[in-house]
Amino acid sequence: MLKNKKMTNLQNIKKEFPIFSNYPKLVYLDNAATTQKPKQVLDALNDFYTKSNANVHRGIHKLSELATEKYEEARKNVAEFISASPEEIIFTGGTTDGLNALANSLNRSQEIFGKHPSHANKNLQILSSDIEHHSNLLPWTRLANKSNIFFAGVDKNYQIDLNELEEIKRKHRIDIVAITMMSNVTGTITPIEKIRELFPDSILIVDAAQAIAHMPIDVKKLDVDFLVFSGHKIYGPTGIGVLFGKRELLEELEPIKVGGGMISEVYKDKSVWADVPEKHEAGTPPIAQAIGLSEALHFMKKAGFKNIQKHEDELRAYAVKAFNQIPEIELYHPDLSTQAGAVISFNIKRIHGHDTAQVLADQDIAVRAGHHCAQIFHREVLEVAGSVRASLAIYNKPADIDKLIKGIKMLYISSIIRTNIRYKY
Ligand code: PMP
Repeated sequence: MLKNKKMTNLQNIKKEFPIFSNYPKLVYLDNAATTQKPKQVLDALNDFYTKSNANVHRGIHKLSELATEKYEEARKNVAEFISASPEEIIFTGGTTDGLNALANSLNRSQEIFGKHPSHANKNLQILSSDIEHHSNLLPWTRLANKSNIFFAGVDKNYQIDLNELEEIKRKHRIDIVAITMMSNVTGTITPIEKIRELFPDSILIVDAAQAIAHMPIDVKKLDVDFLVFSGHKIYGPTGIGVLFGKRELLEELEPIKVGGGMISEVYKDKSVWADVPEKHEAGTPPIAQAIGLSEALHFMKKAGFKNIQKHEDELRAYAVKAFNQIPEIELYHPDLSTQAGAVISFNIKRIHGHDTAQVLADQDIAVRAGHHCAQIFHREVLEVAGSVRASLAIYNKPADIDKLIKGIKMLYISSIIRTNIRYKY
């Protein structure tokens, strides 16, 4: 294992991902949907199932102790990764799972908002934005009455418009701010500190599903109340996510679910919950997945965010410059001088996104076409039905971009030829 070797660059990192040995020609540019897994994560999963598999917390036999130790070690490691305390880390099934659980639970925990100076038992008022993934939108639209949710628009760089936020703040009391840290369509990064400054008394909930793999996150510095992410977008397994919450809020919050393992006493008419974090983790947790996620974070630490950000930024600039040379491309990406993640969405004029994705897939280039679970953004901001998205990761190289650009050029040249042939008849 490379665990303790200091890596200075990411040139050879692709070799650590077995999927690429199975598909040597694959150009994988669908990382915003899910990332591939390094061997050390796969080994950790295999190790757990072959050497420590048992249920956690409930047994005193050796395997149960081992499993519990590894599971709690994983919690510590996740906490350290985002500068939280272990009790502030709740393992969930993923970002969507975490956000739904949080919305439902906040709805049952209105006393949290009772402390808000201006709240006084009114309906919850929520602020979100036009660039959210449906997972950070539908739990809130369902929770709020239509009149109680407000959406900030985006500026020309697809960044959440801070002026609009201020305008909303002037007019309305806001109980919850639910905002993405990095867009899964444009890569735009939200200045979370500024949002906290604007809304010091609101519950600030951050969707870090995309951000987590691309920039260091310090929940203390950001002063967020809750933050969620999924393991599978940061080179870890599927079926695992993290809900970070400030300890005092997790203590006040109604359990996000109820069942085995989260109580200290149960009676027919009342129950006493266990302390956090167990209070929020009813049932058998995703044990192997948490251990796999923890290993993915070791992998990330070893690669180093400095290296990762430099690598992905260079790739992003390389790709954007190449896209800008193709006249038929409509690019939905911030200015290169704006800090953003390497998620590049586009359309080729007159060609349907699904056709683009299909033709690229035929050349072993994996991109994604559609609305990317951001219908409001596509409909109201971009005014298109969908887009094609190339999303980059640690193992991508300039050669991947070259192949993508070549594939796109071939596609539109052949479409022009087809159009000309049609004209002849
Ligand atoms: N939020 C954002 C910004 C995302 O990109 C995604 C995944 N595409 C999600 C939430 C949902 O993540 P998951 O499907 O892992 O629950």
